[in-house]
Amino acid sequence: MTGAIRLLRPDVASKIAAGEVIERPASATKELLENALDAGATRISIEVRGGGVELIRVSDNGSGIPSDQVELAFERFATSKVTRAEDLDAITTLGFRGEALPSIASVSRVTLSTRAQDEESGTRIDVSDGSVVRLEATGAPTGTTIGVSGLFRNFPARQKFLRSAGAETSRIQTVVTRYALAYPEVAFELDLDRGKRFASPGSGSLREAVAAVYGLKTAQAMLEMSPEEADDDSQSTARGLTGDPSMSRANRSYVSFFVNRRWIQNRALGVAVDQAYHGFMAERRFPLAVINIDVPPGEVDVNAHPSKTEVRFRQEGQIFATVQQAVRRALIAHAPVPEVRGVRQGQAHTQPSSSSTASGSFWPAPPFLRQERPSAGMASPPIGWPDAPTGRQNESPVPDIPQEPVVPRNTLPVLRVLGQVQSTYIVAEGPDGMYLIDQHAAHERVIFEQVKAEAMSGEPDVQTLLEPIVVEVNPELHNLVRTQAKAVASLGFLVEPFGGDAYLVRGVPVLLGASDPAQAFVDILELMADGGGFETWEERAAYSIACHSAIRAGKTLVHEEMTGLVRRLEACVQPNTCPHGRPTMIHMTTGQLEREFGRR
Ligand code: ADP
Ligand code: MG
Repeated sequence: MTGAIRLLRPDVASKIAAGEVIERPASATKELLENALDAGATRISIEVRGGGVELIRVSDNGSGIPSDQVELAFERFATSKVTRAEDLDAITTLGFRGEALPSIASVSRVTLSTRAQDEESGTRIDVSDGSVVRLEATGAPTGTTIGVSGLFRNFPARQKFLRSAGAETSRIQTVVTRYALAYPEVAFELDLDRGKRFASPGSGSLREAVAAVYGLKTAQAMLEMSPEEADDDSQSTARGLTGDPSMSRANRSYVSFFVNRRWIQNRALGVAVDQAYHGFMAERRFPLAVINIDVPPGEVDVNAHPSKTEVRFRQEGQIFATVQQAVRRALIAHAPVPEVRGVRQGQAHTQPSSSSTASGSFWPAPPFLRQERPSAGMASPPIGWPDAPTGRQNESPVPDIPQEPVVPRNTLPVLRVLGQVQSTYIVAEGPDGMYLIDQHAAHERVIFEQVKAEAMSGEPDVQTLLEPIVVEVNPELHNLVRTQAKAVASLGFLVEPFGGDAYLVRGVPVLLGASDPAQAFVDILELMADGGGFETWEERAAYSIACHSAIRAGKTLVHEEMTGLVRRLEACVQPNTCPHGRPTMIHMTTGQLEREFGRR
């Protein structure tokens, strides 16, 4: 026996609870930011010293706390945000547990000054290790400033779990930048040791917030995710910005999820995003994304953990699909036909551009960055979260961010083939202008999709050889045929082991046409072994045959061949890029033609 059972004294109980809510300086910062955001602040400054252990000070211009409630705010389970048990079923504020202030105050020294909008003077309260040491009227601007110093100084056990000041600071920085992404209409300012700073413009534009966090270039190359039209309010939607596949990252930490603008951790949603990028990004590379999921408050339980960073969805599978589809749609829509722009500016014909922002570039050099070029006449408001006020756009300190969302163009109109240029490009006319199609890239795309479809149906088109041939391969390829027999067969190769490293080839894919079957077999195996950056063996196989069999640049085509190719391209799921994401075509719109010729 260790003694009689008795209720914990409130100060002990609150210290135990504090351990759950306030694990480290970053969690304290998160709670303070959430309070400021719940108070409707549009400007939040954060000052951090010594990894947040020495000092965290958060100032906001929110609603403030009425003087008669200041002391109460430090009581456990005191909150202005929830009154009835039913409220917990539909939380619309970031805070609701009424635990943060008492928890923080029980393990540090807190000074809070605040003034409510409709009050003449403000209030200052000092709380040290859970006890109020001072409470008085004071002059203060509307809003709240809370300073937390000496965090965990009486808790050696907790201190031991803290990392270096630098590491704790960087966690704090992560928290602040995530909230800056979730609330683009709020201007965040973070002031760190040694003059390090972070600031977000608070313009309401998510792209500008991303620019502040990840840099301008990255922000420019993010693709807009627009939610599918919701049938009614009860549906969840996912929106935000997702990275151009060319800017992959080495780990998952660049994908942020928000649920109703609360930053959350969720492994399953991470997988949903990875899957959406499948085929767009090399193996073991990860995308960058900022995704807000709007969920009807009753469909999500945010009260799963004291730190509120894990949530439970009533319909997890549906949310997973919503996120995956939204990302996938953005990727497909934004790998569109590159448009020829700005030929007029002259330099176009001589200088291929290397910069995505050069609107004068004739050649749409970096394929995925192309849509970021500003274009006249397409301006529309910057992307913010749905309810983000966008009234202060003009004050934005971040210049030159193109604001137009890209027009999706994932389907190809019916084209009329006109001819061929340099035996390499097919010239065609569509409803809106002219298309130049790269015959090799286009054919690769066509074959790639065809092979994948045939493999999926399990019925590849096989051409049986009248006389089977024996092909000797090197040990590496031998091993490949042995281990990936299914993928090889799915292409349309009928092969049997023939002793040693030899195979008897009885049939080849019809797609190979007249090429030498023995040579083609080895070529394709080599391409498969190389992989071309594709992950699955089905895709590696499809890629290898597309690469081997596609019409080369420089081959003169007759009109019927060109028309045939264009018809098949029109039928593709992703006609606008080759399997590797390079453009299959460029498009010059009627408007551009008119401008170039001075007709408009
Ligand atoms: P919760 O956020 O869960 O309600 P907290 O302990 O974080 O609990 O805060 C207690 C209460 O103090 C809040 O409900 C709110 O009324 C008030 N409060 C705290 N911080 C602020 C702030 N920055 N601005 C206005 N009110 C605040
Ligand atoms: Mg709170």
